[in-house]
Amino acid sequence: MNLIPTKLNTELKLFCPRRTCLCYQSLDNTITKDGVYTTKNDGMVRQMFYCREGKHRFSETGYCDLFGKHGSFKEYEQMCKLSCYGLSTDAIADVLIKDPRTIAIWQRGVSKKTNIFHDFICLSITLTVIFIQMDELWSYLKNKNNQLWVFVGFEVDSRFWMNFESGSRTTHTATKLVKKIKHYIGILSQANPLKITTDKLAAYKNALQSVFTDIDYVYLQIVKKRIKMRLITVKKCFVKGTEADFKGKTQNTSYIERFNLTLRQRVSYLQRKTLGYCKKKANFTDALWINLYDYNYRCHHKSLRLPLKHPGTSKFQKNWAHRTPAMAMGLTQEALTWRFLFVAPILVTR
Ligand SMILES: [Zn+2]
Repeated sequence: MNLIPTKLNTELKLFCPRRTCLCYQSLDNTITKDGVYTTKNDGMVRQMFYCREGKHRFSETGYCDLFGKHGSFKEYEQMCKLSCYGLSTDAIADVLIKDPRTIAIWQRGVSKKTNIFHDFICLSITLTVIFIQMDELWSYLKNKNNQLWVFVGFEVDSRFWMNFESGSRTTHTATKLVKKIKHYIGILSQANPLKITTDKLAAYKNALQSVFTDIDYVYLQIVKKRIKMRLITVKKCFVKGTEADFKGKTQNTSYIERFNLTLRQRVSYLQRKTLGYCKKKANFTDALWINLYDYNYRCHHKSLRLPLKHPGTSKFQKNWAHRTPAMAMGLTQEALTWRFLFVAPILVTR
């Protein structure tokens, strides 16, 4: 299982995950592959490694010491998948016959690793960010008098979910999200300015002005006017740049609105008109991180598929090459799996 060089465009450096070892988590160590073994439980092939400095062997499962240990890889994988089908923690606990608290601990572990993995991958290469849309989704926290907003940043051309931030519907939260996005893109060195569209919320304007000081960008606000839920007018407000900067199908926020629907469908805490809203903010963040991995790295996105050059004549031949958002972004070579995340050699600082 040669997982590291083939699937990612970056190389993950191996380290020794054994805590009692002298070179625990040290990157100066030499780690070599040392055979494989097959598990009796689920028949999966697992990679063994050899730590040269510490003179011992260890399994790839050593990189997955981040959850409460009362489950198998299979159960972790099932838990992750169920979390991405809009099931609540209690429902997952019922399906897997576990305690809801155990499921919450697993989700925390996966979410932490996803967070570190996503940051690492996005910072490893220069991202080609052309067009960003931002929006916010409302939900509740603890009770229905207490609103919680999730701000989402989305790259349109690759359908890449860049990051999110939850909190009140203020400039403060928007600024935190914009800072995270800026951290990923660094200083842009492309010919055309970065296109940004949002809805009319003033928070984005303030956040962009204070954070994107050294980035060349154009910004369009879509102001929608509704009377009794019915859309009356759509006004375009060019805050920075002119109409000529937004060519083609870019004068809208449709892509992120479609993405919001995907999120509401898949995150149990975001489902509307149900009692499934969030009671604890940390659980909410965990569910979002798990969904971020699923959306960006694991699932193929239908609108990103490319036609193959020689389409098959028989109906059983492939006509399309399917891609995930991360593939379109140039971060990975193929769709990743949950197991890949579990055994990915990433430093998880506790
Ligand atoms: Zn070692």
